Amino acid sequence: MPNSETSGPSGARAPASRDVANNLRGPGSSATRRAQLDARRWLWRESALGRLQSCGRVPTGPAVELAVRAGGRAHWSGLVSCGSVHACPVCSERIWAARQDELSRLLTAAHDAGFTVSMLTFTVRHTAGDALSAQLDALNEAWTAAQNSTATARAKRDAGFVGMVRRLEITDGAHGWHPHLHALVIHRHAGAAAALGATMHRAFVARLRRFGVESWATSGGLDARELTLGQALAEVASYVTKGTYEALDPARAAREVSGGRGKRGRGASRSHWQNLDLAVAGDRRCAARVHEYERATKGRRALTWTGAVQLDGEPVALTLRDRFLSEPERSDEEIAADNDGDQTAVALFTASDWSLVRRDAAMVDLLEVVETAAPDRRFDAVVAYLDARGFRVVPWRPPPDPATVSQTVSHTVSQTVSHG
Ligand SMILES: [Zn+2]
Repeated sequence: MPNSETSGPSGARAPASRDVANNLRGPGSSATRRAQLDARRWLWRESALGRLQSCGRVPTGPAVELAVRAGGRAHWSGLVSCGSVHACPVCSERIWAARQDELSRLLTAAHDAGFTVSMLTFTVRHTAGDALSAQLDALNEAWTAAQNSTATARAKRDAGFVGMVRRLEITDGAHGWHPHLHALVIHRHAGAAAALGATMHRAFVARLRRFGVESWATSGGLDARELTLGQALAEVASYVTKGTYEALDPARAAREVSGGRGKRGRGASRSHWQNLDLAVAGDRRCAARVHEYERATKGRRALTWTGAVQLDGEPVALTLRDRFLSEPERSDEEIAADNDGDQTAVALFTASDWSLVRRDAAMVDLLEVVETAAPDRRFDAVVAYLDARGFRVVPWRPPPDPATVSQTVSHTVSQTVSHG
């Protein structure tokens, strides 16, 4: 059963209302940050995944750094990152912003080289009791079967298929989990999307039946359309808005929590982030949904790239990525961990001081203190804030040479211990 949020004509969807990539560079929104921190604290305690319990909490070295990026956005650096594109409210934001950037360049380059971009959406019928991991297994296997069928190979040749990028999206609706696949297909021949989509969908359905799952092309199971470049870029921008944590509208949270645990209107569907916010607000049923989602998505790729492009006169085909992008692919984990470049350290904290700060609203307050202070007053503003709040925490000015951070901190820690 498709739902209105996910099966509409995606090409016509409004472009992203929030520019997350910009948000990563400029100062952050206070309300979202505070909600995100509450979500994180809940995950540190309650997540079913060990890496999420550590993400943004456990130091990777002797010092945790309060740092600011060139655009003025402050962040905490020197902490474990989990790299979960599905389940982490912080890592997912970094990963999707990087993927949007890559895909936008790829689609623009393909379009400029004269290729057509189409979008195929495959959804399945589901019922409230279906386990998410079983649905994802069925979806994956059916998708692979759809790729490998001889009819698909023929349809791909007819379309001048060169490659595609497939995204897994999961919402939680009144009828249970609703996973579906969106594929951006790059091909040479305009007008071929419908035939390719229909052929792949037949092979998809045939394999799904082995799992007792249906997908009906005539009732929303298949959507195939050709996109303009603008529509394709809007689609990729929507990956970021849908994949990235956004605090649940407080009115909706109050309504859903007070209206009964986990209750919602017929047809209303929730993202993982909305389930997470309701779990943080004390909804045990949503907490169970969060945990099921965490376990079921662990190790599954949100985005997969396939295909190769061989241009006339070239001896070998290049992968879709190598053809259109100059840099090598980075894993989700690499993108999430690459959080510490392009920044200036403002203040250093020992691990034990960090553990005091992160238990408190100070963790977010300090980011805003740094973002609002004049650049040459940032460290003093941090110290003044900590004093005013009565914290027995002593940050250090970063040494001019970052390579000596480790020495400075271990020296100071041993001094503190010997004097303490
Ligand atoms: Zn994370």
